[in-house]
Amino acid sequence: MSTVSLNGLSHVYENTTSESVHPFNLFVDDGEFLVLYGPSGSGKSTILRMLHGLETPKSGTILIDGADITHAAVNDRDVTLALESYALYPHMSVRDNLGFALRVDGLPADEITERVESVMDKIGLSDILDSVPGDLTQLQRQTVALARAVVRRPKVLIMDEPVVNLVPEQQAETLALIKQLQQEFGLTTIYATSDLEDAKVLGDRIAFLDRGRLIGVETPDLAEALV
Ligand code: ADP
Ligand code: ADP
Repeated sequence: MSTVSLNGLSHVYENTTSESVHPFNLFVDDGEFLVLYGPSGSGKSTILRMLHGLETPKSGTILIDGADITHAAVNDRDVTLALESYALYPHMSVRDNLGFALRVDGLPADEITERVESVMDKIGLSDILDSVPGDLTQLQRQTVALARAVVRRPKVLIMDEPVVNLVPEQQAETLALIKQLQQEFGLTTIYATSDLEDAKVLGDRIAFLDRGRLIGVETPDLAEALV
């Protein structure tokens, strides 16, 4: 059960004068897939970086489940960035690749085992837990890369143009995978893209950005009105 509420949020980069993101309000419901859509420079990454805690807002607040995390440390906000990289540790089993961040987080071994196994069971991939990345198909590796974020049980999953560098067939596969895991785990998700077709395939709603301004939020069937 996680909602995100962005209230009057704005941002200015250091050593610049104009706002990279002008004040806006946005509410993302529990389990919703919200797409931030706009061309390069429209402010998508900056909004995600504020959610992640890598940039400080100029004004406004960020609430997750009603709690103010605007100034919380990166590790104290239960926001996880997925698919920043698809790289897996080649010498580690899938089990250890998935458990790695949880060990760094300091979770006990039995809980790590339980979480990793339950995620892989839910997506029907228990049989590859003890394989190494080199033994997997491309799609299985992409699934493990995405599961690496899901296994941390974030309140909010964020992704910043994760398919832009993939070849077209992999893009379609990965989009389907993202949507499947997001729905399977009911994850509140905020996803940035400059591709309207991807936005329509993925989004429950699409937030349209233009030069740092939020110009509207629509369901995919009504998206053409704002393009
Ligand atoms: P998008 O993710 O939609 O491409 P960004 O959030 O990266 O957009 O950029 C929003 C605005 O902030 C743009 O005008 C961009 O030029 C500016 N910007 C982005 N990063 C920096 C930075 N590190 N320093 C100064 N300005 C930046
Ligand atoms: P760096 O700081 O240079 O990324 P790391 O030791 O963190 O060095 O990562 C080495 C390689 O392993 C990189 O290719 C990185 O993408 C990948 N990697 C980092 N963290 C993980 C992880 N939790 N699971 C799997 N692979 C990872």
